Amino acid sequence: MAAPEFPEPEKVTPVPLDLTAAATGRGCAIPGLDLTVPATIVVLAPHPDDFDAIGVTMRWLQSLGHQIHVAVLTSGANGVKDGWQGATQPSEKAAIREAEQRSSCAFFGLPPERLSFLRLWEEVDGRPYDEALQYQQLRNYLAPRQANMVFLPHGNDSNRTHRRTWETFHSIATQDDLKVHAFLNLDAKTLSFRADVVMSFEEEAASWKRELLRFHRSQQERNLKTRGIGFDERVLAVNRAAADHAASPKPYAEVFELQRFG
Ligand SMILES: [Zn+2]
Repeated sequence: MAAPEFPEPEKVTPVPLDLTAAATGRGCAIPGLDLTVPATIVVLAPHPDDFDAIGVTMRWLQSLGHQIHVAVLTSGANGVKDGWQGATQPSEKAAIREAEQRSSCAFFGLPPERLSFLRLWEEVDGRPYDEALQYQQLRNYLAPRQANMVFLPHGNDSNRTHRRTWETFHSIATQDDLKVHAFLNLDAKTLSFRADVVMSFEEEAASWKRELLRFHRSQQERNLKTRGIGFDERVLAVNRAAADHAASPKPYAEVFELQRFG
């Protein structure tokens, strides 16, 4: 199947909508979005740790009583340095990253049954994966949940797995006529982006988010070694730049481009 082209964002950037103001319980300022409690929210995280990158938005939505389901699409084994904690095999590395994600989600307060590891797009014991079967697997995950909101990476991203997540979701949403608002998050590797919705936050939430991110110890240490900056500070730097860009009144922001399906 040909990959869908990510549409170029419109040149005019509207004033971004503050998410907390958009959903007050007295209706929602995002056209067509029903945020009656409990709405169902699905997070498609290409790697273990992508959920955490939008942790403040997730925490706020959960505090309102919405139900969050997290699907981690790949094991992220490639992100673990050879020999780290004695892991050399992909299965050992996958186990490390999934354990980190379980710990961070426990700290977050996500019920464990709402965290799924789909392990898509990876060879198993040197055998190639079946593309069509994996597409169906993601389709089967999405169909019964009937999410109002899906959070996923932006399609215009230099990371192949992030791009692929958007492409696959786009195909499924179109094929199955899903009625859903997709929130595409700005990440360190996003290439071009329109900030439609912002979730601004203060130092208190930033400290909490650092703690959440540091559960991904393999990533924290790898970033410290290779970039001289921790994974936590790297994500928060994106949030600080996004707050500046969106002229947010608070020092940090998670920002999203909205794409409506159905
Ligand atoms: Zn990722």
